[in-house]
Amino acid sequence: MLCEILNSGLLKFSEYKKILFLRKIIGQKADSWLVLNKITQFLQNQPLPLFFIYMIWNESYECLSRKEMLELQGKRLRNTVERVYHNSPFYRNKMQELGLSPEEIESVEDLVKLPFTVKNDLRDQYPFGLFSSPMSEIVRLHASSGTTGKPIVGGYTRKDLNIWSEVMARTFSAGNCDRSDIFQIAYGYGLFTGGLGAHSGAERIGASVIPISSGNTEKQIQLMTDFGTTALCCTPSYALYLAEMIKKMGVESKLKLKAGFFGAEPWTDGMRKELENKLSIKAFDIFGLTEIIGPGVAFNCSEQNGLHFNEDHFIPEIIDPHTLKPLPPGEVGELVITTITKEGMPILRYRTKDLTSLNYETCQCGRTLVRMDKIRGRSDDMLIIRGVNVFPSQVESVLLEFSEAAPHYHLFVDRINNTDVFEIHVEVRPEFFSDHLSQMLDLKKRIAHRLQSVLGISAEIKLVEPRSIERSTGKAKRVTDKRNIYKQV
Ligand code: AMP
Ligand code: ZN
Repeated sequence: MLCEILNSGLLKFSEYKKILFLRKIIGQKADSWLVLNKITQFLQNQPLPLFFIYMIWNESYECLSRKEMLELQGKRLRNTVERVYHNSPFYRNKMQELGLSPEEIESVEDLVKLPFTVKNDLRDQYPFGLFSSPMSEIVRLHASSGTTGKPIVGGYTRKDLNIWSEVMARTFSAGNCDRSDIFQIAYGYGLFTGGLGAHSGAERIGASVIPISSGNTEKQIQLMTDFGTTALCCTPSYALYLAEMIKKMGVESKLKLKAGFFGAEPWTDGMRKELENKLSIKAFDIFGLTEIIGPGVAFNCSEQNGLHFNEDHFIPEIIDPHTLKPLPPGEVGELVITTITKEGMPILRYRTKDLTSLNYETCQCGRTLVRMDKIRGRSDDMLIIRGVNVFPSQVESVLLEFSEAAPHYHLFVDRINNTDVFEIHVEVRPEFFSDHLSQMLDLKKRIAHRLQSVLGISAEIKLVEPRSIERSTGKAKRVTDKRNIYKQV
């Protein structure tokens, strides 16, 4: 309700902050017109220490009691199950295989009866097989890389886009940003969900948005200083690179940055501290994935102690990735997500392969939304390089297209000067290995070109002699990732 009043323009932002503070003291009863009017009158021109204030975009949903949340989730889950059963042959078949009818899903407790969805299901249903809305209602398509050449597609109705900007607005409010801020969106715009997802949330809170997309570092820094950017959105590794270039250009004193919203790839608390020091900001973690909606699934509040999960839209579960049984709060396992408000592509029990745990204790900030720990690792072999998902199997399928290449390869990933470096060693078949430099250079160029178009990022290709890549007697070890990004989390 407070937000509605704020949006209607009846209240100044500073007054809104004061009311939030007072509500913390006198409790939820303040949520009525009469009480609010009284508080507003009383608060006119009353100073308030800022450090008491936590901005909450949508208290009606972010601060529900557990009982209220479970009721809401149950209702939304029932609707979602009905929707997919009647509109998605994929889910109808899956449920029928389990002998499950929609009526059997009455509450969140029944979630465990529902079938899982995995990345391969999305690949098999490529491109639109998982949609539960007719194409005439789909207004946006996004995609990210899957385990093979085929991307994972996400389809959004107008309502889905609205939900997306809502959860991103919550994210930015939790980082104490509002209409007075200038947002520089340096996530990639396009099929990747990062750019447009962050963009819509920043517009929703009324900030001024610079849609610069990723790359073009000098221009980023020029606009950052000229326009007085206060909030930066990009991958943490790109933020570190920007910080380094800012130092090199000697323009630190011209910056007005106060907040950074970083995500799309794992990053450590150490990296957070480094970014906060280098850019003189508070850095917030944002989590999401294309299959669910994109960024905005979970977000840091200013306590920076876990990521609040937008569980009125996406229900999280933690399961043991081997037994597939649910794990209790606090235990680390695989994150599984069910969307309960999406129309275009609702997803039941999506196995993210991301490893983390959940904490249901109420946060200092006043939000009751469950908190997810930082992502601790993955239960599959997916790598995230420069923000792009890369599976070794994708590389293998490309190499198999080349008769000159043997099916022996090794991926090396490192982080040098805060930038991911990606090198692939490819063994050449004996009959094609040649001393003619031009032939080898040509092969290298063709492989690099093809990989770039399939993976969506460039890799340095190194052709190596026949039989020079170590053979394995068991499970082949095809990746050396020197970044150790999860180990330090
Ligand atoms: P995409 O589908 O391209 O958006 O990639 C989604 C994947 O990126 C997730 O399943 C995670 O593995 C990873 N990811 C996204 N945000 C974060 C984050 N804040 N911390 C760690 N990993 C993340
Ligand atoms: Zn919090």
